[in-house]
Amino acid sequence: ATIYPDRSNSAGPNLDISAQAEPFFAQLQEYQHCQWQAHPIIDGESVSGATQTVCSPRNRDEIVGQVQWATTADCEHALMVAHLAFPNWRNTSVELRAKLLETLADQLQAHQVELIALCTREAGKQLHDGIDEVREAIDFCRYYAVEARKLFRPGAPLPGPTGELNELFVQGRGVFVCISPWNFPLAIFLGQISAALVTGNTVIAKPAEQTSLIAHRTVELMLEVGFPADVIQLLPGSGKTLGTALTQDNRVTGVCFTGSTQTAQLINRSLATRDGAIATLIAETGGQNCMLVDSTSLPEQVVKDVVQSAFASAGQRCSALRVLYLQAEIADKVIALLAGAMQELNVGDTWYHHTDIGPVIDTAAQQQLLQHIADMQSRGRLIAQSPMPEETNTGSYVPATAVEIESINWLSKEQFGPVLHVIRYKKSDLNDVIAQINATGFGLTLGIHSRNTQLALTIADQVNVGNVYINRNQIGAMVGTQPFGGQGLSGTGPKAGGPRYLPRFITEKTRSNNI
Ligand code: GLU
Repeated sequence: ATIYPDRSNSAGPNLDISAQAEPFFAQLQEYQHCQWQAHPIIDGESVSGATQTVCSPRNRDEIVGQVQWATTADCEHALMVAHLAFPNWRNTSVELRAKLLETLADQLQAHQVELIALCTREAGKQLHDGIDEVREAIDFCRYYAVEARKLFRPGAPLPGPTGELNELFVQGRGVFVCISPWNFPLAIFLGQISAALVTGNTVIAKPAEQTSLIAHRTVELMLEVGFPADVIQLLPGSGKTLGTALTQDNRVTGVCFTGSTQTAQLINRSLATRDGAIATLIAETGGQNCMLVDSTSLPEQVVKDVVQSAFASAGQRCSALRVLYLQAEIADKVIALLAGAMQELNVGDTWYHHTDIGPVIDTAAQQQLLQHIADMQSRGRLIAQSPMPEETNTGSYVPATAVEIESINWLSKEQFGPVLHVIRYKKSDLNDVIAQINATGFGLTLGIHSRNTQLALTIADQVNVGNVYINRNQIGAMVGTQPFGGQGLSGTGPKAGGPRYLPRFITEKTRSNNI
């Protein structure tokens, strides 16, 4: 059966098949000790700046490369180039832009092992997360290529009584600033850029400070496949310095941002104080994601999905489960099974296939999470913590932790790591629970476990979130299948990997011609 009529999602290497696994691991070894370099790229030229050394979160002594940071003068230069390049790029055919994205997808595939190595070494991702990351980046490129062709297809003349020829066209808006996070340093970095470029905008990309190397490698691959040098500028460096310079500039017509809610609010304020054109802001931010488990659900399945949702990627997904609500009748059973399952989790080096939980991104994140765990432990009750082997002393590791708390109000902000908060609820309090979840103001993902289909659908309807998952885990949205993004404090929408994403990057022009 044809699942996707106009393209297919990338398969990635299947490590369960030895004919694929052996060459994969052999090639991966070649990248175990190498170092990468990154610097600003403006109009295809490398620019130099102050050098920072990049150390791996999995081992602080492991140097992954060096990055040179951009200055505000580089911002000015990048803005000038991107602004000047826009009219030409806007006037190129959508077919040319879409084809470039599809060629880039092939190029990513050809370089997948190097990109996976970068994901594991620079971002501390587990091997299978690195594989999925490259797959998702490829899928974004192919998906937006197909969607752009649809969006730019000339429509029929518009109906009307005037006797004129009335037509409606779409085109790029101008310069887009793409500010991306370290937790998906390839997929989200490229998802934003590919959407902006394929719709005819020029781009200034500001990757997260922690993951400049993979961003730089990706832009190199883009230039290799033939993207014009002046349409994509890369500015690695400090969010504070560069973010302010970029969002204050009147030449910027749109910002696409993924990261924390606070930063999205800062960007919004900065754009709003300009005297110039009113810019578009597309923001995908954090969540206080919950899962509701009622007494009809299957505890074994619940535990499998909870472990996946809360601890995969060391909990560093904005979709990850933070608060597990268990109906009182089933709570003890689920908690006992969960505690047992958590004892089996392997916290450790990202390079190994059997690792369940890798490091968090850096020491600052590690310290903040450990402090939060200590606070919760003193106020609530520790349910379980996964064992920490000695090898984890070398990097920024945090044990998977589950703690029982009394109320979601104990959590003033999102905890971006492998920490799960568990709350018991009485069936008669379900409406209050839903009200409390909605009162957080976040609205990203929601998990529901229930064999009462009607109840599950009612809950899905009443909780204000972007992505609901019933009787499964609540992470890993697939491009084109589970368009991803939230509402309220969790973002502006529209959804990445969905059919209404690209329209936010364009503007429209009506032409009435009294021929
Ligand atoms: N799309 C990812 C998922 O579904 C999360 C993206 C993010 O963390 O920003 O798990």
